[in-house]
This record gives sequence, C-alpha cells and structure tokens, in this order.
Amino acid sequence: MAKTHILGFPRIGKNRELKKALESYWKQEIDFSSLNSTASEIRRENIKTQQDAELDFITVGDFSFYDQVLDMSALLGVIPERFGGAENTISTETYFRMARGRAGPGDDFRACEMTKWFDTNYHYLVPEFEANTDFKLSSNKIFDEIEEAKKVVDAEKVKPVIIGPLTYLWLGKTFNNEVSKLDLLKKLIPIYGELLNKLADTGVDWVQIDEPILVLDLPIEWKQAFESTYSILQHSKVKKLIATYFAGLEDNLNLATNLPIEGIHIDAVSDTNQLDVVADHLSLHKVLSVGLIEGRNIWKDDLNQALKSLDNVAEKFQDNLWVSSSCSLLHTPVDLDLENNLDKEIKKWLSFATQKTYSVGLLGKAINNGIDAVKTDLESNYTTIQSRNNSELINNKDVANKVANISEKMKNRASPFIQRIAIQKERFNLPLFPTTTIGSFPQTDEIRKARRDFKNGNISTTEYNKKMKKEISYAVKMQEEYGVDVLVHGEAERNDMVEYFGEQLNGIAVSDFGWVQSYGSRCVKPPIIYGDIERPKTMTVDWITYAQSLTKKPMKGMLTGPVTILNWSFVRNDQPLSETCDQIALAIRDEVLDLEKAGIGIIQIDEAALREGLPLRKSKWKKYLTWAVDSFKICANGVRDETQIHTHMCYSEFNDILDSIAAMDADVITIETSRSNMELLDAFAEFDYPNEIGPGVYDIHSPVIPECKDMEDLIKKAIQYIPKDRIWINPDCGLKTRNWKEVTPAITNMVKTASILRNCL
Ligand code: GLN
Ligand code: ZN
Repeated sequence: MAKTHILGFPRIGKNRELKKALESYWKQEIDFSSLNSTASEIRRENIKTQQDAELDFITVGDFSFYDQVLDMSALLGVIPERFGGAENTISTETYFRMARGRAGPGDDFRACEMTKWFDTNYHYLVPEFEANTDFKLSSNKIFDEIEEAKKVVDAEKVKPVIIGPLTYLWLGKTFNNEVSKLDLLKKLIPIYGELLNKLADTGVDWVQIDEPILVLDLPIEWKQAFESTYSILQHSKVKKLIATYFAGLEDNLNLATNLPIEGIHIDAVSDTNQLDVVADHLSLHKVLSVGLIEGRNIWKDDLNQALKSLDNVAEKFQDNLWVSSSCSLLHTPVDLDLENNLDKEIKKWLSFATQKTYSVGLLGKAINNGIDAVKTDLESNYTTIQSRNNSELINNKDVANKVANISEKMKNRASPFIQRIAIQKERFNLPLFPTTTIGSFPQTDEIRKARRDFKNGNISTTEYNKKMKKEISYAVKMQEEYGVDVLVHGEAERNDMVEYFGEQLNGIAVSDFGWVQSYGSRCVKPPIIYGDIERPKTMTVDWITYAQSLTKKPMKGMLTGPVTILNWSFVRNDQPLSETCDQIALAIRDEVLDLEKAGIGIIQIDEAALREGLPLRKSKWKKYLTWAVDSFKICANGVRDETQIHTHMCYSEFNDILDSIAAMDADVITIETSRSNMELLDAFAEFDYPNEIGPGVYDIHSPVIPECKDMEDLIKKAIQYIPKDRIWINPDCGLKTRNWKEVTPAITNMVKTASILRNCL
C-alpha cells in the first residue's frame, strides 16, 4: 500500500490568527499562554485537515512562532553571545529577541540577519556560528508538539520534521573566516544523534529530515560530509526520510540515493524528469516519496497526469512508495473556501494548502483502491483542467500579437548612456550628489483606514481620492522642506507595490485571503496571474501628474518592473515565465510612455525581486538573466534620450550578476549598501559600471536616525569606487514602514550631508 503525507502545512492560520496573536503578544496585550493557545488551535486544525484528507502520516514540528530555521537554532542551542549565549532551555524572550532584536540603538540589539529561503519569498533567520559554538538540545518545542499530536493520533502516524545538519550548517554564517562551517560538524553530529534517539523515544516511526541543499551545486567537501554524517546517523533508532525539494537532484543523484537512510523525498513538480531516474537508482528497500502536488503555486494539480507518472514506480516500489506535496505547503495560502470574490471560473482552477492536502489523499486512494474508487473526483479534476486550458479568460489574441512583434529596437534606448546623460544633465540641472528617495513615504494609520473604508464601501471613490491626494501633497510639502532634489509622490495609494498593479491589469486576479508567510508575522498576498496580461488604462499617471503639479522640482514616476511583478505573484504554469514576463513588460512600457507623454521626466522602475528569481543551479542563471533583463529593457527603454530611467534593487549581492544589471542600461540605479558599509561597491568599481548609482546611505529597516557624519563617511567611501559625478544620495529602500517622526530628521540629515559633501569635495 502506498502511503501519503505532506512535507508541511502553513502555520499562519486560516485568518492569519497567528499574525494577530503574535503582534498582540509583542505589544504586551496578551500573555504567552494566550498566544500559545492560538498556536495550539492552529496546530490542531492543521492535524484535522490532514486527518480529514486521510493521510497516513501527520506532519508535526512544521509549526513555528516565527521561523523553522530559528526553531532549529533554538533546538540545537545556537544562541549568539549578544543574546546571552546558551541557555538550558531557550526562553521565549530570547527566541523573539533573536528574531526581532530590541528597539534601541547599538549593535548589541541587532536581530539575527534574515535572508531568503532558497528561491522562495519566505525569509529565514540566519544561524550564526563561531569557532567556539557548542551545540546542546535546548528546546522542548518539537517534543511538546509530538505529545500534543499523540493525543489525537497514534504515535507511529506522527512524522516530526526537522532541518538536517548539512542544510542547517549551510544556511548559517560565520565571521571573519575564523571557522569553516564543516569544522563544526563533528560537534553537531552527536547532538543530531541524540535528537533522533529522543524523537524515537516518543514512539514515532519516521522523522522527515529536510536537506534541500541536495538540489544545489555542492562543493565536494559538502558531498563528502553528507556521506560521513549520515553514515554515523544511520545508527539512530528512528527511520529517516531525507526530503529534497525546489529542484532536481541532478549531479547529487548518486549521493542522495546511496545515503544510508530509509527513504528519500523528491520534488517531481519542479523537475518533471527526475522521477524515473531516481526510481532507477534507488534501492527498492528504501522509501521513495514523490512530491506530485505542487507546494509553491496555487493551480489545481492535474491528478490524472500525476497518477500516470506513478504507474511504473508504484508497481516497483509497492509499499515503499509515498505520495506527497512537492515541498512544504507553507508557500501556499491556507484555504480556498474562504474566497467569495474571485471570479467563479478562475476559482475552480485553484487549490490552496487545504485543497492540496486533499489531493494528496486522493492520489493515495487512487493508487491503493483503484481509480474507480475515486472516479468522480478524477473526472471532475479532468474537466476543470480542460476548462482552464480552453478558457477564453486566458487567451487574448491582441496580447499574443504584441508579444510576437517585440523587436530588438524596442529593447534599446535611442542613444548610448554617455549621450543621454549629457542631455539629461542639461534638462534637470541637478547639483552634484543629487538627493532622492526610493518611492514610498510612511503608510500611516490614516492611510490604512482610508483604504479599509474604501474597500468596505464606507467612503466613495471621490472621498478616497481626496484623502490620497492630501497624503501626496503632504509628502511633497515635506520633501520641499527637507530640500530633496528629485521628489516622489509617496505611494500612499498603493497597498503593495505588486498588488497595486495586479488589481489594475487584465489577466491578474487578486484574492481576499490568499496570504502567505513572508517572515515572522509578516504575510504577503501574491496576485494570481492567470491569463494574458493587458493594461486597460493608465495606472499611475493621474497620481504622478497631480504630484508634479505641486512642485517645480522633478517628480519621479514610480512603477514596479515586470520581473518583480512576476516573481512576487502566483504565476500561470501553462506557458514559459519569459512569455508572461514579456506581457507584463509591454503593459508597463505603455505606462512608462504615458508618463513621459504627460511630462514626467524621471521614471523609476523597481526591480526589487530580480535577483531572487535566479534559479538554484548556476547553469540555469544565464537563461533566466537573459529574458529577465530583456523584459526590463522592453518596459523601460522606449523613452526619449531626455527621459531619465531609474531602477531600484533592494539587496546587496550583485557581484555575480553585474553584467546583467549593466545590460539593463538604466540611467540611475539605487541599491542597498548602508548595512554592508559600501563594500558591494567594490564589485561595481571592478566591473567599471558605467551609469549613475545611488548607494543607499540610510538603513530604513532600522528605527535609528542616521547621523550626517556616518552618511558622509559612507559617501566618502563610495567615491573611492565610483566617480563622484555619478553618485546619488538616497536611502536603502522605501520609507513606508517608518513613521514621519523618524523620516523627517533622517531625510533632513541626508540632505544636509549632501550639501556638506558638495562644499568639501
Ligand atoms: N518604490 C518602492 C518603495 O519605495 C520600492 C520598495 C522595494 O524596493 N521593496 O516602497
Ligand atoms: Zn527596496
């Protein structure tokens, strides 16, 4: 009999109960026991969903108050010195302090660094290792959760999940190269051994050990470390399922299939070719868990096709075949049933975590009891998949024609940068070190309330627009007072830089409850790109021209770029990403040209998420970067020489993609640098980046007001790398998460710094 399970379920709760409880707890409105009771209700609900779907295993330990990597650090006792170092049992205070830091200036309160979980939009907290890092089991969380689950299911059905030792080390950071992460293995393995045995003592049969780094390009020492680690851990008393996901095993195939463990999980969605190959390599005595229900997107999976792909394997592996989600369902929203406002036809095509869990159960029944046992379900699945393929909602001939007619000429500016910049300098007449901001100003409670009132129908469009205009004029007035050179309208009217455009473009739907955890209590609601994309009318021109009418200084038009809209949405899976991206690019291009026509001279196109779309394997980078850069060029480069194009990227790792960044040919790029102390400019200098750069001097993620002296030093450092007449002065990113009390002194200081520098350099 094949068995069924999922790799993990979202933990935010159907209605983001965890978010709300966490935020109340942090504000000290509720105590821990109340937070914990919300958490345990969510866990109980998640177990029930898996039970209702009749899965063979119930996954436990996938719940987290903040992040699963932080939970692993807590479990292994990896607590940096600045939080007081190791504790016998980590306290809730320490746990949240590691996640969030503590308000107040000074390095000692720094939260742990946060970074993207593989190529997803989920962020984890980076473990910190030093040469003297010791490991010691320091948290009961997973054991408590197992006991909690055992109250409603038999112990053998409970499958705890942990992050494996190699992936855990890989994700962490060390300082000053004083220790190599692999050196820590010899201390870490015994603790994992102890952990596995303790898990065995709870009565569970299997443990899911996530080792997703097995889908990456691994250095040889790491491959060897896999062998040595698991040859020691094989003696633990519990069965081990090593879970890989997000891509295929490729050159790690032999390594993974030969590890001395009892089972392996592979992602058969992101790599549709690997199932048969892995099945050929894996001993039939081992469990093969096949991830067939996509854990990262929201389309109904084609169950008939999934079953067909299992035909051979099911026969071969018999009892040792498991069926699962491709990865944890963490990356999908909780329950489609809550959606009442989605177009009925589109809703039929979708499946969120709850529905996906049922799909896994259904596949199990089809394999074990025969297709006839679930005939109606399979037939209705077939009908929906067909209806989506043939739907008129998806295909738009005009869009197809426009994409087919994209020419090389459309991708390039009329003149090279050197000529353009001369014309632009004359047009805008900006001082040395021009100052600007990245786009958003504080999203105040009033703005949020107005948006809510408007959405709920409590205020009219006219009233709403009036309120937004008031916010815009306030932002303009403040920038005039600060003395900023290039102004922005402040983005008050935007709930989110992607959703705002998603709501206005045809071919994109927006859900009401389709929240997905981004980090901690922060959730995002990615738009759903279901069909060909078209812009029915202008999206930003009215707001921007209004803002421009309030000032004589140049007003930047603000747009989100095609690659970012694509990477931060749920994307259709029936055509290549590059094609969808080109469609978005054409829509944004029209907006760019309309802004230009309306007299807006400077247009910023944010590509905050360009880097995170990079495939996990380096061999696939070039293809991605080529079409991603092309899409940007299509959207940006149709303007006249005198129009200045800015782009913004909020990360600091450019070293390996600089040629692509340069190929975008934006006149000005603003980037994040303040936290990395301008170090990344090294790469720009070495590459001889030709266009203008605004290296962020103000870390907007922190409530700390930057001092002139610090910003001055940063820019002085920057001019060692980049000629001074190509440098702009701006914050790291948008200011929407800050409040005006912080923004006013910060931007005032920033402008003052620019004038000090103009006088002394
Ligand atoms: N223009 C956006 C803002 O200022 C950019 C945000 C981002 O890069 N994430 O908020
Ligand atoms: Zn940014």
